[in-house]
Amino acid sequence: MRVNTLILGAGAAGLMCAANAGPNTLIIDHAKKAGEKIRISGGGRCNFTNMYCDPGNFISENKHFSKSALSRYTQWDFVDLIASHGIAYHEKTLGQLFCDGKATQLIEMFHGLLAQAGAQLWLQTSLADLTHDGSNFTATLERDGQRKTITASNVVVATGGKSIPKMGASGIGYDIAAQFGHRLTETRPALVPFTFSDAPFAPMSGTALPTRATAGGVSFDEATLFTHRGLSGPAMLQISSYWREGEEIILNLDPDNTLLKALRTQRQTSGRKQLTTELARLLPAKLVDHLTVELALTGNLADQSDARLTEITDALQAWHLKPTGTEGYRTAEVTLGGVATDKLSSQSMMSAHQHGLYFIGECVDVTGWLGGFNFQWAWASAMAAARHITAVKQ
Ligand SMILES: Cc1cc2nc3c(=O)[nH]c(=O)nc-3n(C[C@H](O)[C@H](O)[C@H](O)COP(=O)(O)OP(=O)(O)OC[C@H]3O[C@@H](n4cnc5c(N)ncnc54)[C@H](O)[C@@H]3O)c2cc1C
Repeated sequence: MRVNTLILGAGAAGLMCAANAGPNTLIIDHAKKAGEKIRISGGGRCNFTNMYCDPGNFISENKHFSKSALSRYTQWDFVDLIASHGIAYHEKTLGQLFCDGKATQLIEMFHGLLAQAGAQLWLQTSLADLTHDGSNFTATLERDGQRKTITASNVVVATGGKSIPKMGASGIGYDIAAQFGHRLTETRPALVPFTFSDAPFAPMSGTALPTRATAGGVSFDEATLFTHRGLSGPAMLQISSYWREGEEIILNLDPDNTLLKALRTQRQTSGRKQLTTELARLLPAKLVDHLTVELALTGNLADQSDARLTEITDALQAWHLKPTGTEGYRTAEVTLGGVATDKLSSQSMMSAHQHGLYFIGECVDVTGWLGGFNFQWAWASAMAAARHITAVKQ
């Protein structure tokens, strides 16, 4: 069978590309259903983009690489697309846009767009072999226990990263890149909770509060959640992309710098109360319990000098924590790193080593922050490839 374009992976990037890559497109996936990560993301409502999307929200060896694709297919283009399909959405926080209803609406939209474009979708189909003979690609696919040979002018690799192997993640995109001479940057689980040995936060599991979290020289002002296994919540997921094994996290439990003033005021009005009782009016009580020994929080508030209150609040603003590790690819929302961008065109996502070979979405060394940025990269990089495919005379 001959196709113009074979797309490997029917996730966010692959679906977007298949809907726009022009006639005679085949998209395959080894999973039973397309777009599984779209379905489960954002608690089932998919945080599909971010109103404030900007290249600064992405991590890559080349911080400029994402600019072209992101500027030519913006968050507002995707918003227009879903609005034109009657999909309602809302901003949850910090520009994060979610579907009002189920994320499956987005997948249904893509199924409709594929049908409209005449693209074929083969599920439960895997790639056994891919070669290029100087003019065409030949792909050997396994489907229904049979091998099928496909000849294609273009191959788009949209197989995602290594996160959540249970959902079909595989490293095949990296293998194809290496086969065609591409360099890979180091890959690591990112947007992932931290683990600690001995479950130190188990007694306060479920406690969350606004924080400023710092790791690798980068800070995020978002909520931290204490869990049985360690630390989670948006602030922790964000800095996991910057943290390296063996390093500390610095957690500021008073990011608005209001505790010292509040404690001084309470010292005047409730001086005879226990310091811990008064602190528990300002911070979660279980957290104060946890810190009582570490910070030697004893005595009445009236007993605390200004110097001592400053010492306590300074400590609360710079709590040094050393995670044992992270929950890894089992729960990581994304894979940091991937196919190095140096031999990919930022305009088209096409390989400099092999004409007609494209890499899009998460398999590329472009990783977004938490908040809809990773889907926006999937849509934008997919559109860059699709536009190039339809513009190039075959
Ligand atoms: C739990 C969770 C929640 C998330 N929430 C958000 C969110 O709210 N907002 C956001 O922006 N991002 C979110 N993300 C990240 C986002 O889902 C990904 O960045 C995005 O899906 C990447 O799109 P992609 O098409 O590149 O890869 P994927 O969506 O992972 O698609 C890759 C496809 O390739 C297929 N595939 C893999 N290997 C093979 C193979 N060997 N043969 C055939 N097919 C193969 C897979 O089955 C899959 O369908 C979340 C991720 C997770 C895990």
